Amino acid sequence: MDAEIIAVGSEMLTPQRVDTNSLYLTGELNNLGVEVKTKCVIGDDLERLSDAVRRALSRSEIVILSGGLGPTEDDMTREAVALALDRKLVFQPAIAEALAQRFAQFKRAMAEINKRQAFVIEGAHVLPNDRGTAPGQWIEESGAVAMLLPGPPHELKAMFERQCLPRLARMVPKQIIRTLQLRVTGMGESDLDQLIAPVYKKYANPATTILAANGDLQIHLRARCATAGEAEVLLAEVGGPIELLLGDRIYSRNGDPLDVVVGEMLRKRHATVSVAESCTGGMLGERLTAAPGSSDYFLGGFITYSNAMKMELLGVAPETLDQFGAVSSETAEAMAAGARRRTNSTYALAITGVAGPDAGGEDGPVGTMFVAIADAAGTHVAHRQFLGDRTRVRTFTVQMALDLLRRRLWR
Ligand code: ATP
Ligand code: MG
Repeated sequence: MDAEIIAVGSEMLTPQRVDTNSLYLTGELNNLGVEVKTKCVIGDDLERLSDAVRRALSRSEIVILSGGLGPTEDDMTREAVALALDRKLVFQPAIAEALAQRFAQFKRAMAEINKRQAFVIEGAHVLPNDRGTAPGQWIEESGAVAMLLPGPPHELKAMFERQCLPRLARMVPKQIIRTLQLRVTGMGESDLDQLIAPVYKKYANPATTILAANGDLQIHLRARCATAGEAEVLLAEVGGPIELLLGDRIYSRNGDPLDVVVGEMLRKRHATVSVAESCTGGMLGERLTAAPGSSDYFLGGFITYSNAMKMELLGVAPETLDQFGAVSSETAEAMAAGARRRTNSTYALAITGVAGPDAGGEDGPVGTMFVAIADAAGTHVAHRQFLGDRTRVRTFTVQMALDLLRRRLWR
């Protein structure tokens, strides 16, 4: 079964507003095994809106409209759907009465225009709204269904969950959905796709999606089958070869982000970590403390932007800075060793580099990064040249540092 979502309201077409209702609805529909084939945003325009509803109902079994159910002239979803279906709008005194009572409850007089909300499309089933004034409507028409839901997200969610989902579940053929989520780091999105596409392209089910952000890649496999067993078999059939191809670049199989994975590994080993950061200015410390309970393994860190601070707080030798410069593997190593010495941590991570946008002069081009890790066995440095703006370079570097620690912990 296919679905279509129409978000209504001219304000949803301004640069200040985003249609988040459709994201929520898409998630819920997907869980039922229903795919959203089209979604759109339409301003307060009766003709455009009724055209869109007509078109949607001609090709999709499920059409959901959000917004435009308020009492004012610009709320015209009811009229538009009535027009599209060529049905009448019928005044329902019981709804008007309930609205009046709701206003009385809040000791307010109901404006005359609120009666607009008591109009129901002929043959529609009314969906009461216990969180607001606008009732929703559920309308069936030659095998398809249209739902009119209020715009405010908390009203829409409550109405959809309690009143629409149970009805939809009866309509939609029973399907079980199982997902496999792999998280990968240390490679680019296109490299990843090139590597695994030959495997997943052969299958429409499970459906494969790759999401990339900040040096972090997620591979989602979604299998839809009549039984859980069949879904598991499909996921293994496609997921298995993908896992083999990616090997230790996979850091998580349950959706946990890298900082949580690293934190769990440190906790299990009763190990601790400290950080020394130059160009990332504390971002690594922020990531390592994002999860609750991080005090179990994170001891603290040093933000040493200037050479003077690198020498004073971390004991980096002036000769090292003179001879190799602040952005060098030697300085990164000395920073990591210094942080470990001063905090007595099991591991220490250090970052130094050129975040940009101004070129680093003798420090090298923008995006030059050195990340060092120190432990009882010694120090190790990784060097990377990242592309992009300051934010990108810095977030990628932090991700790289966490991955360096993960790999060290896995050995
Ligand atoms: P109301 O009775 O509040 O007027 P309504 O059903 O007419 O309800 P709209 O006027 O379209 O809904 O929207 C009300 C508010 O709900 C908007 O100001 C906006 O903040 C939020 N909203 C509307 N549509 C969406 C959407 N698609 N995604 C997220 N928020 C939305
Ligand atoms: Mg409104």
